Amino acid sequence: MVQINEVKESSSQARESRTAAHTHIKGLGLDEHGIAKRVEGGFVGQSDAREACGIIVDLIKSKRMSGKAILLAGGPGTGKTALALAISQELGPKVPFCPIVGSELYSAEVKKTEALMENFRRAIGLRIKETKEVYEGEVIELAPEEAENPLGGYGKTISHVIVGLKTAKGTKNLRLDPSIYESIQKERVTIGDVIYIESNTGSVKRVGRSDAYATEFDLEAEEYVPLPKGEVHKKKEIVQDVTLHDLDVANARPQGGQDVLSMMGQLLKPRKTEITDKLRTEVNKVVAKYIDQGVAELIPGVLFIDEVNMLDIEIFTYLNKALESNMAPIVVLASNRGLTTIRGTDDDDIKAPHGCPPDLIDRLLIVKTLPYNQEEIKIIISKRATLEGLSITPEALDILAEHGVSISLRYALQLLAPAGILSSTAGRSEITNEDIEECEFLFLDSRRSIKVLEEGKGFL
Ligand code: ATP
Repeated sequence: MVQINEVKESSSQARESRTAAHTHIKGLGLDEHGIAKRVEGGFVGQSDAREACGIIVDLIKSKRMSGKAILLAGGPGTGKTALALAISQELGPKVPFCPIVGSELYSAEVKKTEALMENFRRAIGLRIKETKEVYEGEVIELAPEEAENPLGGYGKTISHVIVGLKTAKGTKNLRLDPSIYESIQKERVTIGDVIYIESNTGSVKRVGRSDAYATEFDLEAEEYVPLPKGEVHKKKEIVQDVTLHDLDVANARPQGGQDVLSMMGQLLKPRKTEITDKLRTEVNKVVAKYIDQGVAELIPGVLFIDEVNMLDIEIFTYLNKALESNMAPIVVLASNRGLTTIRGTDDDDIKAPHGCPPDLIDRLLIVKTLPYNQEEIKIIISKRATLEGLSITPEALDILAEHGVSISLRYALQLLAPAGILSSTAGRSEITNEDIEECEFLFLDSRRSIKVLEEGKGFL
């Protein structure tokens, strides 16, 4: 039986760390006429590309992009990933963004077309709306009660937990099972948070920080939410965002009916589960039923494939077909290559733009990204510094911006964090020229590292 609700959103750490470099990006930063403001939405410059992406967002929203894809063409570090992320943000909150690099599709274990399909499904969201019975309110008491360990031995166990919840209408104290206390801890709930607990499943969700409780010590990054209205115990419409891949994984997992021994076996040696085409078809059927019933809505997200020239002819054929499907995400390709060989073709002499076959090129809206000037680089670096909680002197910022132009924006941005460590180790509160110079000495840029190799210094 295919299961759709109660599926947890997945959050792959690798994927999160890949978008971590773009946390300052909050959208394309366009005005109501679609014109790019110079510094807006976390973006700096790259106005033409941002405006072109704005038009693409309009095309997607008016459903005129089906069967087509986007190619962002430009040098390294010119904001291609940032633009693709901003497109997904402009499409609405919680729209999936799945960034991959072309070469990731090749592995010894998984067929390349299979890996592509998996990422397609990571980029398609399903928003499920259900009315559930919940206890919701601001946490005013959180008191785990201890008891002697029933199995003997040392230490105590939690016998139950008392949770006090407050709404604008009243308060309620709940005496809950220790397993719910575990979920409360997992969600890192503290006094002053607004949470809800589902009556049937006991699952706990932290909604945000109650603005009625917010203190001057709370971090700015917190999401403040109003004190819930109505009673603590009520019916609530719950919106859950999952991806089709989350559903595939949840349903591929062996479920139920296992005795303790086989469960132990699984713990020791995790069984590999396989997501088959048959399973995906089953999941799709149930998804379609939910959509028909008006319980769920499909949210196509953005699949970003960097280094498109790494894809081969077999993947391109599959990609062309997948783009035609009625369950396709928006595919954004990126390339920093000009004319290059299409991988997997017999004749290596045939070169094509960006290494893409002509039938794919015909489907593409191509947007170019241009290198930044020193002033723009300076603003980008200072935005990142602020976000990473680092202070930098104007002179040190100038040096980094120069590196951004002469070496690369990526290199300049990469020096920020280590320079921050050097400055704090030296007891300074700001990154200075000295820190940058020391970092440059410790960490080479690609040109200097090649030179070291060529001169045979320290390498075999
Ligand atoms: P590559 O081809 O090497 O993958 P890219 O073109 O995808 O590079 P990004 O990774 O998007 O470039 O940019 C590098 C860094 O600079 C990221 O942290 C990104 O968020 C930031 N950045 C790039 N362009 C801008 C911009 N116009 N405004 C603000 N930040 C930017």
